[in-house]
Amino acid sequence: MTTYIAKINQFAVMTGMALSGIGSSAVTPANALTFNFTSTDVALQQAIDGSAAPGSSQALAANGFKAAGSRWSSLFTNNVTVNISIEFKPLATNILGLANSSTQNFSYAQVYNALSNHQSSDDDRNAVTHLSSSPALSRLINYTANNPNVADISTPYVYSADPNSLIMELTNANAKALGLATTGVTDAFISFSSDFSFDFNPTDDISADTIDFVGLATHEIGHSLGFFSGVDILDSNISPINSNGPFNDSLFEFVTPLDLFRYSTQSTALGTIDWTADRRDKYFSLDGGANSIASFATGVNFGDKQQASHWKDELGIGIMDPTFAFGQLGEISQTDIRAFDVIGWNRADAAVAVPEPANFIGTFIFAAFGAQLVLKRRKKLFKSVKKAA
Ligand SMILES: [Zn+2]
Repeated sequence: MTTYIAKINQFAVMTGMALSGIGSSAVTPANALTFNFTSTDVALQQAIDGSAAPGSSQALAANGFKAAGSRWSSLFTNNVTVNISIEFKPLATNILGLANSSTQNFSYAQVYNALSNHQSSDDDRNAVTHLSSSPALSRLINYTANNPNVADISTPYVYSADPNSLIMELTNANAKALGLATTGVTDAFISFSSDFSFDFNPTDDISADTIDFVGLATHEIGHSLGFFSGVDILDSNISPINSNGPFNDSLFEFVTPLDLFRYSTQSTALGTIDWTADRRDKYFSLDGGANSIASFATGVNFGDKQQASHWKDELGIGIMDPTFAFGQLGEISQTDIRAFDVIGWNRADAAVAVPEPANFIGTFIFAAFGAQLVLKRRKKLFKSVKKAA
């Protein structure tokens, strides 16, 4: 059957500040998450291979991507190689970058069983305990053609999919982490514009009027590891955004592992996750919605104007925030790590307590100051990046 649902796996390239730094005291795990960066651009591939002139833009970009990959490698121990095709070249005017992940579909039972088999932290155990019993997965949804609330299809209702349907959508990398995929395809494609002013060294301050290259690459790789929401597909397939919409609920086979922890007050009361496109608060919860850990963004068109595949903006939740300001340092937060943990990535520090970073207050003040300083530019960036999506 042909559907006319427009898929969007392309994320506008931006991110936000993190309040807590992750130390470089990385454990070297027996198993390892590794990244295999390649490029169809000959000069960039030479830089990846280490044969480009040091300090050249291609060498800086290649090393920036590798540094971003190393951040994720230091945090998770899944024995997985993530293949990422990168480019660093002039893109269309005002487009900072483009990012796209390869995905695969699975049944909820497959994903439920995989998550059950990959419990390695207290968060994992709590999360799996509160998952909907396999194989049935229900969700609060709206803006569908068969919404029983015919007078107003923005009204949420509970939809339970056929247990045999391939309702789940996982990035290839996430599927590998869960042992559901071993294929050698390219897991993600990331292009950054060489026309933007980037700061390639995040170990000192990010210069004003520049973008933290490693932070931005960290964010985009984060999407490829599975931080995304199918709500963006619902949000972009509602009339008049897609003139062919609305569509029947059964066509929306795009529930992501992260969506299994997406709740609202309303969905919690109904004992299900929240997969609606609207402005109500949606939050990350590992106990069936009882407690909110952090809020998610709610959608470009029918939500809060940001892609639902991110944390809520302006709260400094983590590297998966939706916007990124000039002069802002992007780092992975503990909240980020918890989200990646429960979708299948095994924490390198799972066996030890997670301490609060000693420099928490200082980092926060610096970040807040920086954000205020660049507020106008942030808006400018957002506007230009939206054109890329
Ligand atoms: Zn993003």
